[in-house]
Amino acid sequence: MIIKTRSESAELMILRSLSIRMNLSEKERSNFLNLEKGFIGEQQFDKWFETNFSNEGLILNDLLLESNNTIFQIDSLLITSDVVYLLEIKNYEGDFYTDGDIWSTLSGNEIKNPLLQLKRSESLFRRLLQNFGYNISAEANLIFINPEFFLYQAPLNPSIIFPSQLNRFMDKLNKKSTNIKDRHLKLAKHLVSIQLKNSPYTRLPDYSYDQLEKGIICGGCNTFVTTINKEMVVCNECGYKEDITAAVLRGVMEFRLLFPNQKITTNGIHNWCKIIQSKKTIRRILSRNFQLEGHAKSSYFVNRKENID
Ligand SMILES: [Zn+2]
Repeated sequence: MIIKTRSESAELMILRSLSIRMNLSEKERSNFLNLEKGFIGEQQFDKWFETNFSNEGLILNDLLLESNNTIFQIDSLLITSDVVYLLEIKNYEGDFYTDGDIWSTLSGNEIKNPLLQLKRSESLFRRLLQNFGYNISAEANLIFINPEFFLYQAPLNPSIIFPSQLNRFMDKLNKKSTNIKDRHLKLAKHLVSIQLKNSPYTRLPDYSYDQLEKGIICGGCNTFVTTINKEMVVCNECGYKEDITAAVLRGVMEFRLLFPNQKITTNGIHNWCKIIQSKKTIRRILSRNFQLEGHAKSSYFVNRKENID
């Protein structure tokens, strides 16, 4: 049973938008591509897990927790009756090697040692369970989901699950005799309730409104929409068509994500979406989907009361 689903982090969504609207430095771009790749790997893991796991268990994805004044993240957590599995998912692709505690790509770029990261999360999580008085053991696994990954001089460490071991790992989980009780559900809900909302480790470039290219980004590919055809926006690159209201609302969501402190106004969104000539159209869409506050020139739009989550 999935207790907490996975969603893209705000950092990834912001970087995705910035990567289209401004020039990222090489470092920023590589951070963005790593996050994107990591998220794809996690989604592949979710799909694989969902298809193959036939046992009882509670699944929590993407937990950001604090223990011993240290913040740590868990990609996936599986609660069974006697063991909580912490699963760290890596979507590494290509050839890597280890030399002692050093992990590198075959071309010689050192990467963060994922085993040390795993051990750290495991011990912080154990301490957290202990502090809250849960008597259940924790086991951590490092899962390499990409079949194109290979590690030379791999350490003999049963916590690591290589792509060719995934099926056997799943067999092991499926053969466990497990019986989920109220106390397991209580633990799951407790973990969800104490998770942190915002990661302090986000690395975003500096950006300002003026610096960003305006326009509506196509919902099917990563280019700006160029054509409006009656009530539809049409992408010349991929042919994706979208209702004008849906496209503007996506634009509003993106604007809010990038500039959470700025007010939503007709002029602002008209300028942001750029290709929609008529301010009337923008005002109509905003009025139908948001609530108007303030008067005349200083008016702005907020979520309708029933929309507030
Ligand atoms: Zn497109």
